[in-house]
Amino acid sequence: MHVAQRLERIGAYLFADLDRKQEELQKRGVDVINLSVGDPDLPTPPHIIDALMEGASDARSHRYPPYSGTLEYKTAVADWFRRRFDVALEPATEVLALIGSKEGLAHLPWATMNPGDVALVPDPGYPVYRSATIMADGVPYMMPMARTRGFQPDLAAIPQDVLKKAKVMFLNYPNNPTAATATLEFFNEAVSFARRHRILLAHDNSYSEITYDGYRAPSILQADDAKDVAIEFHSLSKTYCMTGWRVGFVAGNAGAVGTLGKVKTNIDSGVFRAVQQAGIAALTGSQDPVRDRLRVFQGRRDRVTKALRSIGWDIPEIKATFYVWIPVPDGTDGAQFAAKVLERTGVLVTPGAGYGKEGEKYMRLSTTIADKRLDEALGRLVDAFGKG
Ligand SMILES: *Cc1c(COP(=O)(O)O)cnc(C)c1O
Repeated sequence: MHVAQRLERIGAYLFADLDRKQEELQKRGVDVINLSVGDPDLPTPPHIIDALMEGASDARSHRYPPYSGTLEYKTAVADWFRRRFDVALEPATEVLALIGSKEGLAHLPWATMNPGDVALVPDPGYPVYRSATIMADGVPYMMPMARTRGFQPDLAAIPQDVLKKAKVMFLNYPNNPTAATATLEFFNEAVSFARRHRILLAHDNSYSEITYDGYRAPSILQADDAKDVAIEFHSLSKTYCMTGWRVGFVAGNAGAVGTLGKVKTNIDSGVFRAVQQAGIAALTGSQDPVRDRLRVFQGRRDRVTKALRSIGWDIPEIKATFYVWIPVPDGTDGAQFAAKVLERTGVLVTPGAGYGKEGEKYMRLSTTIADKRLDEALGRLVDAFGKG
């Protein structure tokens, strides 16, 4: 079969080696504990499931939904946005329903870039920003996110010739994989930078609600004049433990929202109406279930931090997300260390290089696994690496 060059340019699957090792171990009867996936293990709150069931028996759900989302869903989004961020959105023009935020992020370069145009992409970062840019025949410019800068890009270091061709900049705070957060002050800087260079700012806020210790993540749309240049992607996946449901939204600059909607009318036919009904229940219903789930994730974060610090691993303060981004403790790289971790403990962690070259000396661990399994994994890590 003929394979498109754009697909080959995305590159090889980085974890093939680790997958093979995992299979080998499992064949030998090793009980492998997988801490490599960010996918909440806790159930979707019941009132959201009820809304889906009700929506599914509504005959309107059996036909194509409106492309851009139902007005009820987009209004629920706008209301949530006002309550949560004190930002006003026009539901009809500034909100678009997505089949998960990944879908919208992946289609954005199609809406905004010509072949050869540049997208500014965080490194390390969620892999979709880069691969989607390549799929649209755009050129990713990887912005190094140094730990010394709080995993924020040095905007002043981006070369002029790159900026001339740049059409989109992706940002993501709270961040996957580093768990870094950003202040509104940084968002203000990013917005004025984007205005100056006429770049669309695409902020991925999938983890806005996964925060701890009273920390509240800002929206980029709270920045001054943000709607001139910015859109923000949100997901119900992480907040409401709904990764399987495939529902999210993008909000902000009406031109960009509309253009992305136009791409989507040529590709998909919207989010199942019953899922949008469930999304409305999630956004407008009691947020107590979210708080309950956060308490669980926060407890896990505390146990991971304590256990891994006890063996001398360099674990930062984590205010958000369910990820722990760990510098490789022995000076090798993330892939080698992850292989060693897997061989010695049967625990699977993600090599940082999976999120970009700048992640090579790191590994990522996710706490979206049952408490007992997480504790078992931590026990094994402490036993295997405790004596240096
Ligand atoms: C999980 C995740 C997404 C995708 O979320 P969906 O809404 O399930 O598609 C997007 N961005 C980041 C950074 C994520 O970690």
